Amino acid sequence: MSFSDLGLAPALLNILKNQEYENPYPIQKEAIPSILEKRDLLGIARTGSGKTASFVLPILTNLQATEISQNRHVNVLVLVPTRELAIQVRDVFHIFSVGLPNPIKTMAVFGGASINPQMKAMRGVNILVATPGRLIELVESNAVHLSLIQTLVLDEADKILNLGFKDEMDEIFKLLPKKRQNLLFSATLSENIDAITQLVLKDPKVVKIESGEANLYLIDQLAYNVSEEKKGPLLRYLIKNQDMQQVLVFASSIFKADNIADKLNKNGIQAVATHSKKSSKARRDALSNFKDGKMRVLVATDLLSRGIDIEFLACVINYELPRSPKDYLHRIGRTGRAEATGKAITLVTPEDQHHFKIIQKKMKCQVDCEDGDAINLQGY
Ligand code: AMP
Repeated sequence: MSFSDLGLAPALLNILKNQEYENPYPIQKEAIPSILEKRDLLGIARTGSGKTASFVLPILTNLQATEISQNRHVNVLVLVPTRELAIQVRDVFHIFSVGLPNPIKTMAVFGGASINPQMKAMRGVNILVATPGRLIELVESNAVHLSLIQTLVLDEADKILNLGFKDEMDEIFKLLPKKRQNLLFSATLSENIDAITQLVLKDPKVVKIESGEANLYLIDQLAYNVSEEKKGPLLRYLIKNQDMQQVLVFASSIFKADNIADKLNKNGIQAVATHSKKSSKARRDALSNFKDGKMRVLVATDLLSRGIDIEFLACVINYELPRSPKDYLHRIGRTGRAEATGKAITLVTPEDQHHFKIIQKKMKCQVDCEDGDAINLQGY
């Protein structure tokens, strides 16, 4: 099956070709026809499965045949948990909107940035990608109206609910028209998701793309047993010795992330930390510089373990183990995306051994372990 069999707007087929999307991914094959038919959809799929295009393409196609609303009434609302994801989703809408016969304006809004420019820019927006809190602020300021929404997308719905946006979500649901199309994407099925699914979705098409495990085969996993005090030198050794040019390092706390980035810089390895204490501009710059290859190492807390797509990221290093096996999967899932192979390295201290065994058991896969303490780290 090719993209041209799916019923998408012809202008999109050219853009797909330019973007080197040759064939639809499984989620796209299943989701696109249903979304075009205006059906509700529950997509159980993680970032990396191609889920963004699976809703962007049919939404843009449907909007080509719809009367576009005016006067701060948006047609499509995409709710996302973080500003990074908001920007990423908006960018995909932008890429696929170029040259459409009926021009479509997409905008991303999120907290931590000043609200006035967002209010002013809202005029004529057809597709709004928003984090819940900022959306409510904009509605309260009359900068946007939600009563004519035709399609609602909840992207990373599990994360939206986990981050405690439940009250905001309830408020937003009250503002939406009853008759609308609902598309809900979640990396996992949980009780929360089940509840919201029952509440929001009507006779949905369910698409389940095996998550987590699905692309484990694309990830070359390796662990180093290492004592706590040798972790820093080992990290620097790995980056320099293996000539890693783009590596995402995960730390368990903000303090640790800053500290790791500091030490890397002091040792001549260009690094920047990103986490919730950084300003929204700093976070955006860090991610885009890293994506563009201008920054060799990005040190992140679990803020970035979900939802962020970095093309061709070759290596992820867990400087510290995440608390849950799920987070481990999300972290290492930043590499080995879109059918490209990647490497995931985990530093395991003696105290971590037991926890790491649990993670491997949950993943149903055993990770090769090397002795990090046996490596000569002098000079690192
Ligand atoms: P997503 O899961 O939406 O974050 O997408 C993961 C990555 O796959 C992104 O870099 C997309 O540009 C890419 N992608 C999505 N669909 C396709 C496709 N059909 N062919 C090639 N690349 C794709």
